[in-house]
Amino acid sequence: MDIKRVRDDFPILKRTDKGKQLVYLDNAATSQKPQVVINSITDFYEKHNANIHRGAHKLSREASEMYERAHDKVAKFLGAKGREEIIFTRNTTESINLVAQTLNLKEGDEIITTEMEHHSNLVPWMMLKKKLGIKIKYVPVDEEGEIKASDFEKLITPKTKVITCNHVSNFLGTINPVKNIGKIAAKHKIIFIVDGAQSAPHMPVNVKDIGCDFFACSSHKMCGPTGIGVLYGKKELLEKMEPYMGGGGMIHEVSFDEFTTHTLPWKFEAGTPNIADGYAFGTAVDYLSRTGMKTIWNHEQELTKYALEQLSKIKGINIYGPKDWRKRAGVIAFNIDGINPHDIATLLDEKYNIAVRSGHHCVMPLHVKFGQIGSVRASFYLYNTKEEVDLMIKGLNEIVQVFG
Ligand code: PMP
Repeated sequence: MDIKRVRDDFPILKRTDKGKQLVYLDNAATSQKPQVVINSITDFYEKHNANIHRGAHKLSREASEMYERAHDKVAKFLGAKGREEIIFTRNTTESINLVAQTLNLKEGDEIITTEMEHHSNLVPWMMLKKKLGIKIKYVPVDEEGEIKASDFEKLITPKTKVITCNHVSNFLGTINPVKNIGKIAAKHKIIFIVDGAQSAPHMPVNVKDIGCDFFACSSHKMCGPTGIGVLYGKKELLEKMEPYMGGGGMIHEVSFDEFTTHTLPWKFEAGTPNIADGYAFGTAVDYLSRTGMKTIWNHEQELTKYALEQLSKIKGINIYGPKDWRKRAGVIAFNIDGINPHDIATLLDEKYNIAVRSGHHCVMPLHVKFGQIGSVRASFYLYNTKEEVDLMIKGLNEIVQVFG
């Protein structure tokens, strides 16, 4: 990968502050956007803007086709059968809520999730626990920051209706054994939902290969705009499910008494959708595919290996997640003895123009289990370099000296 050319694609990376180049290491929160994606949003509004699936006029037909084609691109990118399995939502959070609300769970039903989930794969289920009385069981995270597929099997009962976990943890960086978990779920005929917010942007993903029934991810972490998310669902399941929201766009016919639903995926996309950003998400997916997901993944693994080696030399550091870089993606959360994580992130930003995240990263229960209020998190993407990792290490060493 020609890293210079890649960096040139992202205009924001040229930003400086007090003469220091921006070092953006908060990619697990959101990624930066290449010029092609920014251009395609403008292009849509300048040349094609109209509402979709409504008008007979040229503009509406054009906008409809552009929005629909974006679904096809995402279907191909994730290995789905076609656009009928790809629902555009606002984000991963909405995708998970959509499934949770439409699976028709009942009192006493059980779901199995893990201790390392993002709040967006915990709270929707907790809401059902409160409203319907479902039961939530947790697969434990071990000292290495890993979960075992076999632990899911131990928790299964005849009442288990859903198994869900993230593909990559946004706190520990752990790559979870989703394929093995999928096999267990399939053996017991249990719905398997994968939160792919941190995997789809960074590694080749194929939903059929994983063997999941549903897969959720967010455009904004994949070089695309905010306000667009994806829910992949198996066609035969989506066909049986009731719609999530009712309104225009999702119906076939409506009388004063009843309605019939539109075909997939539109049945699940009520109201005027986020057309321009959906279209631009298609451009982002093209950009990632052109660069090559395997190439991006190899680059990030190299950075992760290097960053782990360098970080582990820092005095008093405690890095969360697997020690072996092969078991993790480009997300590294850590604490340094005696220094508040927010102070570290603030100093890295103010003195060195390095953006990292501090806090609980929406994984509060696991931070509490580890006895921490939060951590510092550096996360990489295709445009990051070893030189940027070096700048972070230099900054951290200076901070340790000041506080030490
Ligand atoms: N799951 C994981 C693993 C995440 O990292 C995130 C975003 N931090 C989400 C879900 C939620 O994504 P969004 O805010 O785009 O809905």
